[in-house]
Amino acid sequence: MAVLDIQDLKVHYYTLTGIVRAVDGVSLSVNKGEWISIVGESGSGKSTLALSIPRLIMPPGRIVGGRILYSGVDLLSLAGEELRRYRGREIGMVFQDPTAYLDPYRTVGSQIAESLLEHGLASSGSEAESMAGDALELVGIPRDRASVYPHQLSGGQRQRVAIAAAVALEPKILIADEPTTALDVVVQAKIMDLMKKLQEERGLTVMLVTHDIGLAAEYSDRIAVMYAGELVEIGPAEDVVSNP
Ligand code: ADP
Ligand code: ADP
Repeated sequence: MAVLDIQDLKVHYYTLTGIVRAVDGVSLSVNKGEWISIVGESGSGKSTLALSIPRLIMPPGRIVGGRILYSGVDLLSLAGEELRRYRGREIGMVFQDPTAYLDPYRTVGSQIAESLLEHGLASSGSEAESMAGDALELVGIPRDRASVYPHQLSGGQRQRVAIAAAVALEPKILIADEPTTALDVVVQAKIMDLMKKLQEERGLTVMLVTHDIGLAAEYSDRIAVMYAGELVEIGPAEDVVSNP
């Protein structure tokens, strides 16, 4: 069953030197519970595709065509409050640099707790804090670390916190855009193993954006290859990798 059905998506950037067709007619169906990786060289449109799903494309970019069906609802037809309900709660996102969206002035536990309250998943402050502790433990961070600030954690731990914050909202799909590119290989493997565990134990659907086809091959069920804004190949990971 498809949790996400992207149809003929087109995303342009309007630059001084012309229109960049970053995503140029991409159709892609993502099954519930699978791990799909989007691979391709730098500039092929992977991030633009990923950011389009929760509608995070900002000027000079614009989604100019297509449909993004999430559980049958076209996200491109939603606005304002209705759209925000899908962000985080249904569609989680993790980026390369977790400091970009972890507030340096608030403890990691309070950030997760606040977002649980905001999304109505906890009904009191103490319940939210307890759930935030659970989320931290789920990603291998002891719950008593909830009181630290992001800068007190290592890069790998910050990325774990980012994943905890995303997964605490129980999204159906987690979109991870180069989540381990800034980390060393040992930490990279730990983060990937963590996402695999979430997929296997919680039925989380994972969409990984990476330029690293080896990494994609190791963890994915399916791989989609982008080139110059188009999806040029898609299939089971082992088929895509063995096909030069
Ligand atoms: P990838 O994630 O595969 O590296 P991107 O989606 O980041 O690819 O970029 C696709 C194309 O869109 C590239 O040509 C890139 O230069 C262009 N692009 C991305 N973001 C912007 C932007 N904010 N303004 C203008 N062009 C952009
Ligand atoms: P990094 O390698 O960037 O420091 P990791 O998240 O891989 O980030 O782990 C960092 C350190 O955190 C580990 O070396 C370990 O000492 C500690 N750590 C990781 N998981 C746990 C855990 N479940 N309990 C206690 N400490 C942990």
